[in-house]
Amino acid sequence: TAVPERAAAAPAAGLPYQDASLPVPDRVNDLLSRMTLDDKLGQMTQIEKDSLLPQSDLAAYRIGSVLSGGDSTVSPNNAQTWADTYDSLQRTALTTPLGIPMIYGIDAVHGHNAVRGATLYPHNIGLGATRDPALVQRIGRAVAEEISGTGIDWDFAPCLCVARDDRWGRTYESYGESPELPSAMTTFVTGLQGDALGAAPASVLATAKHYLGDGGTTAGVDQGDTELSEAELRAIHLPPFKEAVRRGVGSVMLSYSRWNGVRSHANKYLVTDVLKGELGFTGFVVSDWAAVDQLDGQSGFTGAEISTAVNAGVDMVMVPHDYKKFLGLLRGEVTAGRIPQARIDDANRRILTKKFQLGLFEHPLTDRSFTGTVGSAAHRSLARQAVRESQVLLKNDGGVLPLAKSARLFVAGKSADDIGNQSGGWTVGWQGRSGPVTDGTTVLQGIRAAVTDPSRVTYDRYGNGIDSRYTAAVAVVGETPYAEGRGDRPDGLGLDQEDLGTLARLKASGVPVVVVLVSGRPLDVTAQLPDWKALLAAWLPGTEGAGVADVLFGDHAPTGKLPMSWMRGASQEPVNDGDGKTPLFPYGYGLTYDDAPEPTPTPTPTPTPTPGACTATFRTTSSWQGGYQAEVTVENTGSGALTGWSVDWDLAGATVTSLWNGTLTTAQGRATVRNAAFNGALSPGARATFGFTATGTTGTPSPHCAGT
Ligand code: BGC
Repeated sequence: TAVPERAAAAPAAGLPYQDASLPVPDRVNDLLSRMTLDDKLGQMTQIEKDSLLPQSDLAAYRIGSVLSGGDSTVSPNNAQTWADTYDSLQRTALTTPLGIPMIYGIDAVHGHNAVRGATLYPHNIGLGATRDPALVQRIGRAVAEEISGTGIDWDFAPCLCVARDDRWGRTYESYGESPELPSAMTTFVTGLQGDALGAAPASVLATAKHYLGDGGTTAGVDQGDTELSEAELRAIHLPPFKEAVRRGVGSVMLSYSRWNGVRSHANKYLVTDVLKGELGFTGFVVSDWAAVDQLDGQSGFTGAEISTAVNAGVDMVMVPHDYKKFLGLLRGEVTAGRIPQARIDDANRRILTKKFQLGLFEHPLTDRSFTGTVGSAAHRSLARQAVRESQVLLKNDGGVLPLAKSARLFVAGKSADDIGNQSGGWTVGWQGRSGPVTDGTTVLQGIRAAVTDPSRVTYDRYGNGIDSRYTAAVAVVGETPYAEGRGDRPDGLGLDQEDLGTLARLKASGVPVVVVLVSGRPLDVTAQLPDWKALLAAWLPGTEGAGVADVLFGDHAPTGKLPMSWMRGASQEPVNDGDGKTPLFPYGYGLTYDDAPEPTPTPTPTPTPTPGACTATFRTTSSWQGGYQAEVTVENTGSGALTGWSVDWDLAGATVTSLWNGTLTTAQGRATVRNAAFNGALSPGARATFGFTATGTTGTPSPHCAGT
């Protein structure tokens, strides 16, 4: 559409920051030089759409960002109205003297899930089971198109949590329990943003969240405490973020959780030193919803909370409601000198760089050429492929699966005919809900469409009416939707009473039972498993239930592998690969239809780690009068991981004046470096190199290393 408002609202054209031919850093510098303090504070402020009252406050308070959290919507809820809402807000934002566009963020965590009719893909746990990073990248691209079609620029995804305890209510937002799966699935970042932010149409800013250790809290408590050594934190939870940064992720959202008692939003070491320093993250850091306001454990912002967070490295605060109070306090902290002006400029530089890269200054309004992609046939077909690849076959006694398309089938269970249940949380509402919440195909509809004669398929939700005339019963049971802490299940992960009743009726008929489990995590099925001929984990497949039927009838043989160890019961949690426990099904387990004979699940033997050992070598890389630069390389020569290692060396009278990639404790003539590797742990054969600058006589430094 034409953008007359843009032209009318913009300041006199021809200023350097408006010149798209100039390099982004030059445009940012020029713009920064023209901004007032209030302009800058506004850029650091993110407001929930519905709390912006009146809408003109967006310009009056110079607010830089708007979001829709899980529950905010538009009416009627369709792509067109979302695009109109976006454009209306953007036109308001552009009326400020400098005409800086707002950036609009949304939680499109399994498709554009706030929009009715959008394509919904399996939640991350199912995508982890596909072990298919290329597919995840294609999904990211498709999601970016649907988001762009509604104007929105920014997706609060992917969640890169490494979920270590299935009792956690966000387990389904995790690609897997081991760092390698979430790391591999950072292809989603590339899918959303494209190879370079803004370089291709429908480029959407991605968010790696929640930094750091959200999936590692003790007992799987949402927003809890991750009690780990630094070496463990780095080895388990940091790698996916490192990989996302390598892929150029534009924003990082902090975690509500604490690390050894310290909240992420107050952790300058993790945010500024590790993320922005060591990992070299050049995008911007956004807080989680009201997380800054939570810092002192009481509701209601204080200036101290705000300066703690901003000084720790938070660039944009998801306020999300009381922006007047927030901005007043933020201003007070800056004018009192408790937040340095340089920190405000750095935050603005980071945010504005992304806005320029996205092309928001040139194309502030919705690209309507993508609006028709919302829920398109091409995207639904991609989602169906993802559903097929995500299912994990855990049991298949006597080859009961695949089912014959001519079989007489009895379908039961509360999730057999329920789009809401199969989509889970974050579906047209934060918590999601059961029922026909959006468009798509239920598992039952998929089954009916696949069989040769739909009249041979009988459905009763509770399993009433089954008798011995049926070839097989298909029970689609599991969890109903939830999100975040409301999904925490400290006391058990068993099936609910309705499912147990339905399954008991099916069992009593003597008909072979195939269970399709629709759930956001492994459930405790140890007691019931002997009653079932087959068990297929379908996770939370999203809107394309036909993909489940594709696997049931063998149009696609199962290929999914468990992204999480499958516990024997909640009391066994946490259960993770390599921890020496014997889960019901190990991480990586998954059958297919060619498997014969049926293998009994065997736990992966845990190799006994042998200790790491190391050597350290030193070399001078350059020297000048009175000083030199040098490198130390430490190599793990043992056969186990080397953790908690440190190197020290005698400097023969020199003084180290700076060091990169490590934490230094130094004294004249002697220096010690700890955890110089980015991960703090070295696998066998791996090396870490770090460097330092020293002044004084060089002598011949002799480094020594030690670790476990
Ligand atoms: C969640 C985030 C989400 C944010 C905005 C928070 O409650 O923890 O994952 O991005 O809300 O909706």
